Amino acid sequence: MNAADLTRLHPRLPSPLHGLDDERFTRHGVRLLLKRDDLIHPDLPGNKWRKLAPNLRAAAGRPVLTFGGAYSNHLRATAAAGRLLGFDTIGVVRGDELAHRPLNPSLARCAADGMRLHFVDRSTYRRKGEPEVRNALLAAAGVDPQQIHVVPEGGSNPLAVQGCTELGAELREAADVVAVACGTGGTLAGLAAGLAPGQRAIGVSVLKGGFLTAEVERLQRETFGERTGAWRLEDRFHCGGYARTTPELDAFAADFEHRHGLPLERHYVAKMLYALKTLTEEGVFPAGTRLVAVLTGRPWEPAQPASSR
Ligand SMILES: *Cc1c(COP(=O)(O)O)cnc(C)c1O
Repeated sequence: MNAADLTRLHPRLPSPLHGLDDERFTRHGVRLLLKRDDLIHPDLPGNKWRKLAPNLRAAAGRPVLTFGGAYSNHLRATAAAGRLLGFDTIGVVRGDELAHRPLNPSLARCAADGMRLHFVDRSTYRRKGEPEVRNALLAAAGVDPQQIHVVPEGGSNPLAVQGCTELGAELREAADVVAVACGTGGTLAGLAAGLAPGQRAIGVSVLKGGFLTAEVERLQRETFGERTGAWRLEDRFHCGGYARTTPELDAFAADFEHRHGLPLERHYVAKMLYALKTLTEEGVFPAGTRLVAVLTGRPWEPAQPASSR
């Protein structure tokens, strides 16, 4: 069995693209299409597949160590990949207080998938990129740096960015503007590079702070040697920051789900669609624009316990 052979997981690639009839867009002459990356794989949905796949090939079956917060989609996807493909996973989790509590449903899922969890305090976690801190962390987690593949927080490294260029390539000819929600910006960095000349990408930041443009540029320089593609960031739609929401966002998401019968991932996807509705109302997109919204993930529900013994 080959732990780097991802074809065994039968990803749905290229992911489906379909038009959505929504009068809040059609009224302005904008044709909205959904890029269904959420359907790529049930346990490794969306950009998590696109970013992890090249990393898992590079890991070639070695243990994979990565980083994330208490509810990280990236940690869950990595743990699931380890279970499905048969390699070891180690998750370095932000917040040492979490070690003394029952695991939350997201971390419980990681542990059930066989991920070894290593909790670190927040100030150490923040400094995890510094070589000395990182080496001390690896030593404390009991791993040999030579024997593992390390993937940064959120999964964004040059391999991941390269993987996301395929998302752009799948959309050549199908779109004028492509929108994606951004956490670390790795998906936007690759998407924009994969689009054809004349196509544009918009990243909707779900984090507060406005530092993401520099981060996407850094990732593109590291991956391609230069800033590339026509892209920009929208910083107005984080709704207070990660996992924060507003009554307007909640109402929009509930209404969207009701209209289209499509449950929305709330931390990223709902904010991106809300941004597109607002930008459309503001007249940012000329009539005739083919606007593609990338569904980078779908809502995650912890599995119900089989019995309540
Ligand atoms: C992780 C994630 C993102 C953020 O992707 P980045 O490459 O970190 O910007 C967006 N949407 C969903 C659903 C995610 O799980």
